[in-house]
Amino acid sequence: MEYLKLAQLYKRLEAFSEKSIKVGILARFLKDIPDNHLQKVCLLILGTVFYPWEKNKVSIGEKLAIRAIALATGVNRNVVEKMFVMYGDLGIVAEELTEQKRQRPLFKKTLTIEEVFRTLRKIGELEGEGAIDKKVKLLVDLLIHAGPLEAKYIVRTVLEDLRIGVGEGIMMEAIAEAYGLPLDLVEYAYSILHDFGKVILIIRKGGKHALEDVKPEVGTPIRVMLAVKVDSVSEAFEIVGRPAEVEYKYDGFRVQIHKKGEKIWLWTRRLEDVTKQFPDVVEYIKECLPDRDFIIEGEIVGYDKETGKFLPFQKISHRIKRKYEIEKTVKEIPVEAHLFDIVYYDGQILFKTPFRDRRELLESIVNEKEGKVLLAKKIITSDDKEAQKFFEKAISKGLEGVVFKNLSAPYRPGRRVGYMVKLKPVKETLDVVIVGAEWGEGKRAGWLTSFVVAVKDPETGEFLEIGEVGSGIKEKKESPEDITFSDLTEILKPYIYKQEGKRVFIKPKIVIEVLYDEIQKSPKYSSGFALRFPRMIRLRPDRSPNEIDTLDRVKQLYAKQHGM
Ligand code: AMP
Repeated sequence: MEYLKLAQLYKRLEAFSEKSIKVGILARFLKDIPDNHLQKVCLLILGTVFYPWEKNKVSIGEKLAIRAIALATGVNRNVVEKMFVMYGDLGIVAEELTEQKRQRPLFKKTLTIEEVFRTLRKIGELEGEGAIDKKVKLLVDLLIHAGPLEAKYIVRTVLEDLRIGVGEGIMMEAIAEAYGLPLDLVEYAYSILHDFGKVILIIRKGGKHALEDVKPEVGTPIRVMLAVKVDSVSEAFEIVGRPAEVEYKYDGFRVQIHKKGEKIWLWTRRLEDVTKQFPDVVEYIKECLPDRDFIIEGEIVGYDKETGKFLPFQKISHRIKRKYEIEKTVKEIPVEAHLFDIVYYDGQILFKTPFRDRRELLESIVNEKEGKVLLAKKIITSDDKEAQKFFEKAISKGLEGVVFKNLSAPYRPGRRVGYMVKLKPVKETLDVVIVGAEWGEGKRAGWLTSFVVAVKDPETGEFLEIGEVGSGIKEKKESPEDITFSDLTEILKPYIYKQEGKRVFIKPKIVIEVLYDEIQKSPKYSSGFALRFPRMIRLRPDRSPNEIDTLDRVKQLYAKQHGM
């Protein structure tokens, strides 16, 4: 099949922004694709040549793409760069330069989907010495034979920026429309297979029933079931029913553990393979679970070697990212796995098995060992007070909250279906004073943005910076309560006492209330702390700067957050 056909599809999809039109175009296109091309075509439509669980990426970066375009079209690199600045899209640059190209290759061949796919995969897989030059050469070879439209989309694909406005959602709808199937069912099958081509092949062979029968494969990660957020114990029971299982909500990362024979895989919720980064967990699994095939879910949590207390997620995120000296980090940041679900065991798929029975099976096979593998702590209750007490206990131990689970629910991959809900404490807010800001640029020129906020040191009376707030403030007033950048600029202007470049320093007069995700220790600000994702909720004209929150309160909140 010619790659040009796909490039023409991209062009049509790009031309329409309305979702239903895109879905229609795509549905018609997919129906005509021969079986043997389906998987490649579906990946290419999503702008990639790798499955979500594969580690490689095709992305080669703008610099290399510029080099390849220049070589393939016989134009000086500077010209390509200039055109890039003008158009802001190397795909269009490649299209235009290919159009203008005078020299044609001696033997111009027709690019097939097969060839483009294979070459792009090679580009993504090359590593080590000389890899960069080889990548560029492969791309040049493709571009030499490409027509203008093909060049445009090949370049956008290698930059991982296809810009045709098609994601997984539209693909699912297109498949549902093409074959007259419920969207829900297509989504279900995709959550297990992550391969739209395979989904269509199954539909073509066996229709709706075959899709309903799709099974997980050990070694291929599935999308995990997600939790709905609630604000109270009673709301939680309303959704999951009574009695419910209430479990601690651990603040680590969700892990899907697959075991097949000797082989063990650890996948994150985003389908990243982190087996190499956690050799300790692999050993614990061998030690604490039977030698059978399974897919088990849990949370990997870090803990402090000295105090035994749980560490916040940021700490183990270092371990996830770590590619080298893994043994060292294993020692520095020990982790344990808290298991909470099982979806496959010894030949049996357990999606339809009620949660109560899945948990029972899990309990019967796990040999718990402190510091290695444990079961998520749970109670089963119908009582609001008992659940509330369990929730408070979780918070006092430095956990994130609790998860309520419907005891008779099946497992639904990839979905927030309400079989499981999460309850976290209502967020505290801080009253802080604005002590600085930055003049905005572009659309925000003339307005102050990025407001530096401070708390008070009760002993010295000094104002200590704790973060920069940029969100929660509107560009345009949508309702009377909204505070815009323009409003805030007018309010603050009289208090500006110094300016350095774009930075302004403001007398501590204006108090605002901010919400944040977390308090972190940070040398960046004079308070020694930083607010993560702070957003302004409202102005506090009723508060004077002397009444704002103090460094002591920040310290208390920080300690509470860490269960101290
Ligand atoms: P959230 O990330 O806030 O949507 O909350 C759901 C996440 O909580 C899951 O993806 C898990 O990573 C995590 N989690 C921690 N403890 C549990 C538990 N006992 N059961 C289910 N999920 C849990």
